[in-house]
Amino acid sequence: MLLIKGGRVIDPASRRDEVGHLVLVDGKVKEFLAGEAPGDFQGRVIPAEGMWVTPGLIDMHVHLREPGYEWKEDIRSGTLAAAAGGITSLACMANTRPVNDHPEVTRYIIDRARREGTVNVFPVAAVTRGLEGKEMTDFSELAEAGAVAFSDDGKPVASALLMRRALEYARPFGYLIMTHSEDPELAEGGSANEGWTALKLGIPGIPAAAEDVAIAREILLARQTGGRVHIQHVSTKMGVDLLRMAKRAGLAVTGETAPQYFTLTDAALEGYNTNAKMNPPLRGEEDRMAIHEGILDGTIDAVASDHAPHEEYVKRCEFVAAANGIIGLQTALPLTLALVAGGRVSPSRVVDLLSAGPARLLSLKGKGTLAAGADADVTVIDPEREWVFREEDVRSKSRNSPFLGWTLRGRAAATICGGHVRHSDLPGVGVDG
Ligand SMILES: [Zn+2]
Repeated sequence: MLLIKGGRVIDPASRRDEVGHLVLVDGKVKEFLAGEAPGDFQGRVIPAEGMWVTPGLIDMHVHLREPGYEWKEDIRSGTLAAAAGGITSLACMANTRPVNDHPEVTRYIIDRARREGTVNVFPVAAVTRGLEGKEMTDFSELAEAGAVAFSDDGKPVASALLMRRALEYARPFGYLIMTHSEDPELAEGGSANEGWTALKLGIPGIPAAAEDVAIAREILLARQTGGRVHIQHVSTKMGVDLLRMAKRAGLAVTGETAPQYFTLTDAALEGYNTNAKMNPPLRGEEDRMAIHEGILDGTIDAVASDHAPHEEYVKRCEFVAAANGIIGLQTALPLTLALVAGGRVSPSRVVDLLSAGPARLLSLKGKGTLAAGADADVTVIDPEREWVFREEDVRSKSRNSPFLGWTLRGRAAATICGGHVRHSDLPGVGVDG
């Protein structure tokens, strides 16, 4: 039994935003209590005065690298980093080795996560075998093994015909197809956003149109098939505009962005900073502002980190040759909280983007809410805490972050998963073994 005492409980799914106490029993939320805390509580008390108490954060876009690339990250280190970042559930992408395109791989990940993981792991299976874009995987078999969605992330599904077939196959079952939207020919050879910075640095560019053309295609195919499409890591202004239009047209299209796209622009590439190299690339200021607008008006459904750990060797090299991606599990929360400090985004909207939204998109039962009966996944957030993100804070095996050395505001003070404390900064509150 756990009592989270005196915090500001923010649960958009049950329209709650008020100070009170949360009681957790047997891995579930038992009840919310307003007013005085019960004096005779027979269990562990977590003091949360001055903190936010939110449903456990859900990161729907993570590369855990296991199986196959365990020197970059594994399920143990990735879930430890997640817990430190306030994340109680994550969806891991299929570009492992072997690729998660077979139920045995899906089951392996689930089994490893059960034994090694400190937070919930939900595998996303591949759309095509080997991520090769040629032959569809068996969605039903994979879903039965535990896959929560399908994506070839890391690569686009280049063939529109194959994407159409995938959506048609998925539709009657309600499976979610998630897309790394990129036109491979338009993007080919590029390493940075096509624009002034790339020109100045002499880096070959990737035009925004490479992403926009692909997003438009997914939307049109969603319209044609009635299937559900989720656009991953939206980074462009036109991408946001297209998503908005699709929603207005009543299509089953949703989208996520990552904190890097509303925090940074391609100016971060100055000095050939390979820790700012990612795909899609950091864009221009107009794109960054459009993503803010998309978050404000509800066009963007979720914020996900696109946590992509890489060892130093593949980052400390010539810009064009460097690997794409940055770690993000420990910075997603503070960078998203910065939107609140800007004054236009409410705390409850932030919780929606980081928890309730992803739970809805991935149809995760009992997640993304603190209603009675929900899973006892809770994040206690200190919204005011200022801290510097240092190398020694990194729980991931890799350190490829452009935010190292940044002073961040807001931090997970405690992460509770299934009623177990998995991370704690709170005095007197230890982590469960
Ligand atoms: Zn991707």
